[in-house]
Amino acid sequence: GKGAAMVTAVAYRLATQHAERQRILDALRLSREQLMEVKIRMGNEMNRGLAKESHDQAAVKMLPTYVRSTPDGTERGDFLALDLGGTNFRVLLVRVRSGKKRSVEMHNKIYTIPQEAIQGTGEELFDHIVHCIADFLEYMGMKGASLPLGFTFSFPCHQNRLDQGILLKWTKGFKATGCEGEDVVTLLKDAIHRREEFDLDVVAVVNDTVGTMMTCGYEDPLCEVGLIVGTGTNACYMEEMQNVELVDGDEGRMCVNMEWGAFGDHGELDDFCTDFDRAVDDRSTNPGKQRLNGGNHISVSSFSLFLAHRYEKMISGMYLGEIVRNVLLEFTAKGLLFRGKLSERLKTRGIFETKFLSQIESDRLALRQVRSILQHLGLTSSTCDDSILVKEVCSVVARRAAQLCGAGLAAVVDKIRQNRNLDKLKITVGVDGTLYKLHPHFSSIMHETVRDLSPLCEVTFLQSEDGSGKGAALITAVACRIRDAGQH
Ligand code: BGC
Ligand code: MG
Repeated sequence: GKGAAMVTAVAYRLATQHAERQRILDALRLSREQLMEVKIRMGNEMNRGLAKESHDQAAVKMLPTYVRSTPDGTERGDFLALDLGGTNFRVLLVRVRSGKKRSVEMHNKIYTIPQEAIQGTGEELFDHIVHCIADFLEYMGMKGASLPLGFTFSFPCHQNRLDQGILLKWTKGFKATGCEGEDVVTLLKDAIHRREEFDLDVVAVVNDTVGTMMTCGYEDPLCEVGLIVGTGTNACYMEEMQNVELVDGDEGRMCVNMEWGAFGDHGELDDFCTDFDRAVDDRSTNPGKQRLNGGNHISVSSFSLFLAHRYEKMISGMYLGEIVRNVLLEFTAKGLLFRGKLSERLKTRGIFETKFLSQIESDRLALRQVRSILQHLGLTSSTCDDSILVKEVCSVVARRAAQLCGAGLAAVVDKIRQNRNLDKLKITVGVDGTLYKLHPHFSSIMHETVRDLSPLCEVTFLQSEDGSGKGAALITAVACRIRDAGQH
């Protein structure tokens, strides 16, 4: 009778709502064919970035790093290292021993960089960095010491030599003016001279991917790839010199900093990109922070940044939370979530940090706890169904990120295999980054994707402990040894 009709109506409504939710989420699900296509396109872009004639037009820049070998254990000495561009800014003292006592000992101090320095002028930023170095030297009781320094600077840089890095473009929300197009070693040295307190011998500028590869290479000689999946994402690997057309010479290999975050900037990912992705770069990286700056200063290059770095924005920690939020907004607008009530909170950019994505997907977490996380975020009206849906959105977005990342990496290892004419390649990838290390499923999905898309490569993943700092020191050690040998 009537009751049965009502039950049917409710069941019908639930079924259509379910179908509607899944239809929306389907846009964020990639098939194996699509992932294979991503791998192929990444491979093509790598070739375009390496070749002289297509380099200028290529989205993936494949930047030469002037690092020509992975460590061999003979590296030694005391070094300073700076690490800028990850979650924290750090100054480190690294002691590298060779021979029987072969080891790396590190002391480091973490410093915060105030928003004013990140978004102010380059002089302010570098003055602050030098202030931190001075503090560190005093803290270590090393005032006046002049050690060789390796600068891990995790942004795209054009290098003509190891001890130079011309910043091509800020990423990850950095905006300090007057730095793009400049050599960061010069900017650092100028700041040191302004302070007139000490001098430093800057020997190497190192991308964090390269530092990570070197650190893992110190433990495992098969490590010839470095990968970061944290605030941003990027990879490097050992390429044949003969393919590195931007640098003269055909002998041996050189590490190439891919800057793969820019993959997709010439449309390579357009057919996989959703409205939720596009919403991430419609506005600035962080309007709240921008207001500190007077709110009226957007340089041309940082504006174009919002529209760029497509691949990075689909993968890395700085952006995944925003994709999730955009999906939740859509669900709510369609009445499928939060009882259709759009709260001010949900409209606020940046409320979902990476940490949250990792927490919410933790297997041990009961739905009740998901709900309390949502409440903590100020999304109070949530029901049990809401919690299930939010968790599903997080999982779909993180899975896609891990698969996209895996597809890119599959292209890298297969290229190395082909370079060496091998039927089978055994290789190790050194990895660092908060998303990779802290997310409960990211790494396993990524590994699975690489194995599936590049079955001829036997890939081992090695997590780096403090890759950026240690790696910079190892590179500096090699450079000093070569330099000193040349002088004597
Ligand atoms: C930068 C890369 C860096 C990566 C990981 C990206 O935004 O462009 O240089 O390696 O973040 O930190
Ligand atoms: Mg780092």
